[in-house]
Amino acid sequence: MDLDVFRKETRDWLASQCPESMRTAMPGDEYPGGGKRARYKNPDTQLWMQRCAEKGYTAPTWPKQYGGAGLDARQAQVLREEMSRLKVRTPLVGMGLSMIGPALLEYGTEEQKAEHLPRIATGEIWWCQGYSEPNSGSDLASLQTRAVVDGDEYIINGQKVWTSGADRADWIFCLVRTDPKAPKHNGITFLLFDMDQPGVSVRPIKLISGLSPFCETYFQDARALRKNVVGQVNDGWTVAKRLLQYERTMIGGGQGGGAGRSNLVEVARQYVGVSDGKLAQPQLRDEVIQHGMNDRCFGLAVRRNLEESRSTKAPSFVSSMFKLYGTEQNKSRSELLLKAMGVQMLGWQGEGFEEKELEATRAWLRTKANSIEGGTSEVQLNIIAKRVLGLPD
Ligand SMILES: Cc1cc2nc3c(=O)[nH]c(=O)nc-3n(C[C@H](O)[C@H](O)[C@H](O)COP(=O)(O)OP(=O)(O)OC[C@H]3O[C@@H](n4cnc5c(N)ncnc54)[C@H](O)[C@@H]3O)c2cc1C
Repeated sequence: MDLDVFRKETRDWLASQCPESMRTAMPGDEYPGGGKRARYKNPDTQLWMQRCAEKGYTAPTWPKQYGGAGLDARQAQVLREEMSRLKVRTPLVGMGLSMIGPALLEYGTEEQKAEHLPRIATGEIWWCQGYSEPNSGSDLASLQTRAVVDGDEYIINGQKVWTSGADRADWIFCLVRTDPKAPKHNGITFLLFDMDQPGVSVRPIKLISGLSPFCETYFQDARALRKNVVGQVNDGWTVAKRLLQYERTMIGGGQGGGAGRSNLVEVARQYVGVSDGKLAQPQLRDEVIQHGMNDRCFGLAVRRNLEESRSTKAPSFVSSMFKLYGTEQNKSRSELLLKAMGVQMLGWQGEGFEEKELEATRAWLRTKANSIEGGTSEVQLNIIAKRVLGLPD
């Protein structure tokens, strides 16, 4: 279809189908994660998710037979632009869409794709990631969770940690050791299994905020079907690395998202004020402009990479550069919001703060984790040095 026609149709569809309340910045407690246990504070969240799922817009580039819209890279870019223009919220987020879904498209069997992808695209199943263990974070390949074959199944024993959303998750994608004698990268298998079974238990890790975004996850004779091995047995590291590239691209903003974020310039104008049509504080003005230019350059670099990787349809080690830069950019954006909003962005509870201000405080503190989750900045620098620049070990 002609791109202009597609743009017009998309614009009309978004304008007519997106509920008004889904055209505002997304509060932290309204994230549309999906899953069997999801409860939506705002019913429009679910309505918007359903409408987009029917259209294939929760997973725009996935093939139609798996619940996507089958858009090519240019059409997907138009959709992002139109969503951003209308300030509509992302209809569905989560590790299903951004991590295990793309990995399955690349490495899954036909049976795995048909079973799992449509249930991700409709938001029916919430996935969590079983990678990190108490002694295996940056050195992930040293993981010790064991899986042994028992007929058509694997029996799994071990522990994971920092498992985001494990207490709400329906399914887990998990790295397990299937050959303890092999060199550490070669004895790992990538397995999918149901969290709702007697052998799986989770203990939420309580933060100082009172929230528990992640958990300790225990497997005691948990079971997985052998047909749910993704890729080859003992070669799970290949799939694991690719999935990390998808994850890092997503965390760094390398999928070209960002719709639904509050506008830095508007916020700064509101809190600092305007003189002669300009932001009243010259130094903050400079920093906001610099940040805006960096954002624009980063966005263009992301777009160029999306275009260039159109033939392979897969990320590469460049994802480490996106992760490193994008998370720093995200953190500095929050620091600038803090400079603009001042003490109004230092509230935790009580009177004197609007909901959006309390939200901004939480979002600012949350950004601190961006350069840890999905592999720390130091680890990304190591990867860039070795895999992108070709420097010796
Ligand atoms: C918000 C959040 C959500 C998360 N969600 C999940 C999840 O859902 N599933 C999951 O499996 N994990 C999850 N994690 C865990 C995350 O992947 C790990 O925290 C991360 O990989 C770092 O591992 P670690 O915490 O064990 O730190 P360590 O590996 O112990 O690192 C400690 C410090 O040493 C540095 N360091 C370590 N090795 C090197 C090196 N070779 N060179 C230079 N510096 C080095 C690190 O950069 C870091 O500063 C999450 C983490 C966070 C913060």
